[in-house]
Amino acid sequence: MFGATGSIGQNTIDLIRRAPDDYNVVALTGAGNIAQLISDAKALRADIAVTADPARLAELRDGLAGTGIEAAAGEAALIEAAARPADWIMSAIVGAAGLAPGLEALKHGTTLALANKESLVTAGPLLMREAKRLGATVLPVDSEHSAVFQGLIGEDIAAVERIIITASGGAFRDHPLSALDTVSLAEASSHPNWDMGQRITIDSASMFNKAMELIETKEFFGVRANQIETIIHPESLIHALVGFNDGALMAHVGPPDMRHAIGFALHWPARKHLPVARLDLAAIGQLNFRAPEHARYPALAIAATVMQAGGLSGAVFNAAKEQALDYFIEGRCGFTDMARAVERVLDLMLSREGLENATITLDNVQAADAMARALTCEDLDKKRA
Ligand code: NDP
Repeated sequence: MFGATGSIGQNTIDLIRRAPDDYNVVALTGAGNIAQLISDAKALRADIAVTADPARLAELRDGLAGTGIEAAAGEAALIEAAARPADWIMSAIVGAAGLAPGLEALKHGTTLALANKESLVTAGPLLMREAKRLGATVLPVDSEHSAVFQGLIGEDIAAVERIIITASGGAFRDHPLSALDTVSLAEASSHPNWDMGQRITIDSASMFNKAMELIETKEFFGVRANQIETIIHPESLIHALVGFNDGALMAHVGPPDMRHAIGFALHWPARKHLPVARLDLAAIGQLNFRAPEHARYPALAIAATVMQAGGLSGAVFNAAKEQALDYFIEGRCGFTDMARAVERVLDLMLSREGLENATITLDNVQAADAMARALTCEDLDKKRA
């Protein structure tokens, strides 16, 4: 399980701990939260625990001393863990760092439960092509994509007219537009409906998360960009809808609890009991929808540019977004500066790097990623100077 110490990882462990005899845990990985990694590795009797941070190896090793559980650290150790045969792998590292372990895991024809949306945004064609070539299965864990996947069971993708991805609208859906420049990190880090990691929560407020999900939809389901729509649905109970050529819309409705999508991927193709709340529709009373305001969410237009351009533009978009997010978290740029910087870097690299026609390989993705991060720093530093 990659990213075991994070929000998705902990929800996955919650499900596994309810039926410990059903699972034999091979590897757990984390980064900075060594105490959690040690405690889960012991509780689940994992074969190996890996931290992404080599500086924390001694601490991990000490914590696991005498247990027989191996300890390892660094990028190469993550890849080595991914190469260990396992028939189900959770990919829940946050950010572009999740791509390489996921690609490695595909090599043993496993089932890859993919929460790491950055893998599809940065290298969707590569990941899906490799999965097919190697006989591996990729299952979506993002709630919207799990919802679409479930809506397509038994259906012909050729009969799909459109896919509608819902969005809560994030922390600032009703915030005055003119005050978005000055929102604080704490305000951006609070989600109205979902309890998630900090980075994805801020990405929900800016809708960078939704922008990524639109790209993810195109890559995972192989539909065209103009078949994908977004709608604001403040209750976050309908996760996505699939529209068919006879006009029917199939909606997936469920509580905002990631254990739903994780559990679906864990038990697929079976459905098993999951410890999530059952919706009382009469108590809910009504569901609301509204069109997203493009001035509030410039990330949506950026997603359209990326889907149109293809190639390495997703890798550039994601890296610029991750770098701008680091700046925002560190207090080095404002909330609305993030989208402006991402747009400028993407435009710049599209105009001079021939991103559209580039072949997507891990090396190319990593090179585009590094260049986009450097340009984003330059852009945001210039703005501060
Ligand atoms: P968190 O920030 O809560 O957890 C991230 C995990 O990745 C942690 O285990 C963290 O370790 C580890 N990690 C951080 N940096 C690195 C790195 N450089 N190399 C290796 N591991 C690293 O994130 P979430 O669980 O919220 O999200 C995980 C992924 O799932 C993201 O791609 C996100 O977009 C996606 N997702 C999340 C949803 C949610 O509800 N949270 C919903 C749908 C998708 P540590 O904590 O020890 O530092």
